[in-house]
Amino acid sequence: MPDYVIAPPAVSAVPIKGSTQLFPVRRIFCVGRNYAEHAIEMGSDPTREPPFYFTKPADALVTGGADMPYPPASKSLHHEMELVVAIGTGGANISVEDALKHVWGYCCGLDMTRRDLQNEAKKTGRPWDMGKGFDRSAPMGDLIPAASFDPSKGKIELKVNGKVTQVSDLAKLIWSVPEVISNLSHLVTLAPGDLIMTGTPEGVAAVVKGDVLEGMVEGVGEVRTRIV
Ligand code: MN
Repeated sequence: MPDYVIAPPAVSAVPIKGSTQLFPVRRIFCVGRNYAEHAIEMGSDPTREPPFYFTKPADALVTGGADMPYPPASKSLHHEMELVVAIGTGGANISVEDALKHVWGYCCGLDMTRRDLQNEAKKTGRPWDMGKGFDRSAPMGDLIPAASFDPSKGKIELKVNGKVTQVSDLAKLIWSVPEVISNLSHLVTLAPGDLIMTGTPEGVAAVVKGDVLEGMVEGVGEVRTRIV
């Protein structure tokens, strides 16, 4: 063991459905504007511009249905329900055809966003980090192995306090899961443990303390958290 001057950080991990094993997380990449209707509601042109990315720290994860504290410095915490891809085999310059071979599995995730800070960053041309990558900004459900799911289609839905706020289908992703993996791997070398949040459909909205968020992707499972 190296002689660290402080205790090394704990490894963030996502539970595996039906198992005591965990998926250790290295980085969390997120795709911006990957459903046309959401691009329109955010004031953008949904034509097929190249995908773009931002990140969250690995320790932004909230798992096991735990509560999510309302973050500081914001009056507009938005939900973004997304399919999450877990990379099991890394690589650079991965082809679209080979991309799914790099996937360990899938889960449901919430790209929680301090929309007021993100909007201010957009306006001033500053980074999105504080709008997107804050503490506990990434609630996620349990992972399922890749072999049990085809990410080319499937209903994606979010309910807030039992009422549907977001509903769409993975078939409406502007950039498909294999295309996202391939594109991102031409920008960085993907590594085992990387997660990719693939973008949210329309219907994003603000939540308040006490709200219960329940998301699902058909064939993948659920993500649940309560804002406290
Ligand atoms: Mn998002």
